[in-house]
Amino acid sequence: MATDVLDSVASIPQIRQTQLLINGEWRDALSGKTFATVNPATEEVIANVAEGDAADIDLAVKAARTAFESGPWSKMDARDRGRLIYRLADLIEENIEELAALESLDNGKPIRDSRAADLPLVIDCLRYYAGWSDKIEGTTIPIRGNHFCYTRREPLGVAGQIIPWNFPLLMVAWKWAPALAAGCTIVMKPAEQTPLSCLRMAELAMEAGFPPGVINVIPGYGPTAGAALVKHPDVDKIAFTGEDATAKIIMADAAATLKRLTFELGGKSPNVVFADSDLDAAVAGAEFGLFFNQGQCCCAGSRLFVEESVHEEFVAKIVAKAAARKLGDPLNPETTQGPQVDQAQMEKILSYIKKGNEAGAQCVTGGTRFGEKGFFVEPTVFDNVTDEMPIATDEIFGPVLSILPFKNVEEVISRANNTHFGLAAAVWTSDVKKAHLMADRIKAGTVWVNCYDVFDAAAPFGGFKRSGIGRELGAAGLASYTELKTVTMNLD
Ligand code: NAD
Repeated sequence: MATDVLDSVASIPQIRQTQLLINGEWRDALSGKTFATVNPATEEVIANVAEGDAADIDLAVKAARTAFESGPWSKMDARDRGRLIYRLADLIEENIEELAALESLDNGKPIRDSRAADLPLVIDCLRYYAGWSDKIEGTTIPIRGNHFCYTRREPLGVAGQIIPWNFPLLMVAWKWAPALAAGCTIVMKPAEQTPLSCLRMAELAMEAGFPPGVINVIPGYGPTAGAALVKHPDVDKIAFTGEDATAKIIMADAAATLKRLTFELGGKSPNVVFADSDLDAAVAGAEFGLFFNQGQCCCAGSRLFVEESVHEEFVAKIVAKAAARKLGDPLNPETTQGPQVDQAQMEKILSYIKKGNEAGAQCVTGGTRFGEKGFFVEPTVFDNVTDEMPIATDEIFGPVLSILPFKNVEEVISRANNTHFGLAAAVWTSDVKKAHLMADRIKAGTVWVNCYDVFDAAAPFGGFKRSGIGRELGAAGLASYTELKTVTMNLD
C-alpha cells in the first residue's frame, strides 16, 4: 500500500452487512434477535447484528452439507476452487482500506496495524492456499502381494469454525483458506465482540462467486450458536481458536459425535534475552512481542527472561519504549496502542495489575486505566517478577509485561518450560550454538530466534501442551481439512 494511504486518517466505514449468511442468502435470525457490537474506543454501539442460535446453525449446516455432497462445489475442478480463492484475495485487496478501517473500528486495533499487518496477512494466506488447491496429492505404496495400493486425500466435509476477536479477519483467513482449498464447506461463528469484518468478507466471497452453501456465517454467542455447531451431528470437524477453558467445553461437547478437532489456544510465552544479544534489537523485539495488538496475542512474549548482567540496562530501555507508546483513536495512523476489545477484558487486565502489585512485583511504568472513555490500559511493565506470581503464570491478554531476571542457560530453559502452555518462545543471542540449544529444548510450537511474531502462511503454527491440538498454516494446516483414504486393488 502507498505510504500516503498508510499515513492517512481512516474514515469511518459504512456498515454494509449485519445479517446471517446461509446458503448464499442474507437473512435475519429465525428468532429475530440481534446483539450490539461496540466501538471499544468510544463505548458507542456501531451496529446491531443478527444473533444466530441453534435453529440458524441447523439451517446453515444443512446448506453446507448439500453444497458439499451435491452442489456445484462437489463437482468443481480443484483448480477452479483455487481461482475462486484467488478472486476473493483480489477483492479484499481492492477493498483493503475499507476492511482495515472496519477491523480497527470493531476491534480497536490501530489502523497502522490493520493496514500493514492484518490485511496483508489475510491476502497472503488466501493466495498461499489458493495455490494448494490443485496440489493435494496421494502416494502409491508398495504393499505385499500383487496389489496396487494408493492413498487419496479427500476433503473432510462440513467444517465448523469458531474464532476469537483478537485478529477477526486474519482468523477468518486462517480458517477459510485451507478448508476451501481442501474442498470442504464451512459454517463459521465469528466472535460476538467483532462480527463486522467477517460479514463483509463473506459478502466479498459471494461477489467472488462461491456457490451457495459453501461459506455460511452465523454471528452469535458461544454457549448458544457456538455450542450448537459443536454438537451438530452433521458437522465433521470443529476448528477452534480461543481460550483453553472454552476448548475443554468444546472437547466434551464434541465427544458424542467424535468430531475431528483442531485447537489454537492461549499461551504464556517466554521471551529470553541473553547478555550477548544485540540489546537494542532485543528491546525492540520485547516491546513488539508483548505490546503489539494491545497485548491481545495468543503468542505474546509475556514472560520476559533477562540475563542478570544486562537486567538493569534492559529495564531502563524497555520502560522508555513502553512509556513512549501513543494511545488514542485507532483510526489515527499515529496511534500505536488502541483500547482493549471490551470492558470485561479491560477489567480482567486491571485485576491482574492489582495482583502483580499485591504479590510484590515492582510496577516500573503504567499500571492504570488510560482516560475515562474507551477501554484503554496504560502499557505496563513489572520488574523482578518471580515464577509463581499470577502475572507470571496466567495469560493476561493485555499490555502487561513481566520481567524475570535469570542467571544461566539451564536455569532459564527449566523456568521457561515450567508452564502448562507451549505456544511460542523467542531467544535473543549472538551465539548460534546457544540459539540452537534453546530451539531444541524449549517446549513450544514456534521458536523465534532474534525476532518475534514473524508469521507466514507457509509456516505451521500451533501449540505444544495445553496451547493447542494440531497446526494451522502450511501443509499441516491443509492436511487437517482432509481425510486420508487408502485404496487397495487386486491385480491378479
Ligand atoms: P473464547 O474462548 O472466550 O472465545 C472464542 C470463541 O469461542 C468465540 O467465538 C466464542 O463465542 C466461542 N465460544 C465461547 N464459548 C463457547 C462454547 N461453549 N461453545 C462453542 N463456542 C464457544 O476466547 P476469546 O476470549 O474470545 O479469545 C481469546 C483467547 O484466544 C486467548 O486465550 C488467546 O490466547 C486465544 N487465541 C489463540 C490463538 C492461537 O492461534 N493459538 C490465536 C488467537 C487467540
